[in-house]
Amino acid sequence: MLLGSIEAGGTKFVCGIGNENMEVIERVTFPTTTPEETMEHVFAFFDKHNCDAIGIGSFGPIDIDKTSSTYGYITSTPKIKWVNFNFLGAMKERYPNTPIGWTTDVNAAVLGEHGYGAGKGLKHVLYLTIGTGIGGGMVYNNALMEGYNAPEMGHILIQPVVDDHFDGTCRFHKHCLEGMAAGPSFDGRLGIKGADVPMDHVAWEYVVQYIAQGLYTYTLTLAPERIILGGGVMKAPGILDRVRTHFELLNNQYVKTPPINEYIVLPGLEDNAGITGGFVLAKNQLR
Ligand code: ADP
Ligand code: ZN
Repeated sequence: MLLGSIEAGGTKFVCGIGNENMEVIERVTFPTTTPEETMEHVFAFFDKHNCDAIGIGSFGPIDIDKTSSTYGYITSTPKIKWVNFNFLGAMKERYPNTPIGWTTDVNAAVLGEHGYGAGKGLKHVLYLTIGTGIGGGMVYNNALMEGYNAPEMGHILIQPVVDDHFDGTCRFHKHCLEGMAAGPSFDGRLGIKGADVPMDHVAWEYVVQYIAQGLYTYTLTLAPERIILGGGVMKAPGILDRVRTHFELLNNQYVKTPPINEYIVLPGLEDNAGITGGFVLAKNQLR
């Protein structure tokens, strides 16, 4: 069995070919530019392989409602050239005989982590990326949680720390989690990249507290068995433990969670969560 996977990110695309054990046989990466140019690279890659099925995890927001006339489209993304791009349609036109699965980038990542990474063996797993943006995907009872829309967990509102006068970088909301704690929040607050901000700077304390607030809201509303935190911001030294500590403060022993070191964890597949999830999605099309 040959499975195809596309991890379509706002910065870069990763395309992969895998076997039925979800092992990556071949992968390519290229920057996300215009749909025309980027899709040429995608087609060049998949034209070389005869995949049994392909799974796409895309940046968005995207339309996942199968009854909608814009199903398979990228919808209101800040990446202007991609607004209303019929991504799934373009793939189906090129590969009319190949079953193609379609979901969000974080849904694909949670599928990968749930099946083959840090969420293996569990039924209720939340994956959150904290990078250029913040997004979450949830596997609930071993299935993706998708409703009228794919969840947009990054845009929940948080309570600002008293001394923090920053409103966030999100153009839709004041004080949403993504706007206040994703990577660009450092650029917005301080004019420097997060990776260059010393870990004892107060901006890190804010970001830690906001991430913990988000995780606490997800804990109260979704009751996952494990929360997996990916994305560039989580690569900062010591941040995972600081988030765990603040989470426990917020909870104040109210709800029972698994032991904190098993509850809030880093991805098991590292940077392959999305591409592996694409294979899972592809394989699911063949059932
Ligand atoms: P993307 O979300 O675009 O897929 P990443 O997950 O790599 O990509 O996240 C990139 C974002 O994370 C950028 O805003 C970058 O500045 C930020 N970032 C990367 N490394 C760190 C770090 N060590 N500390 C803080 N922010 C970081
Ligand atoms: Zn927002």
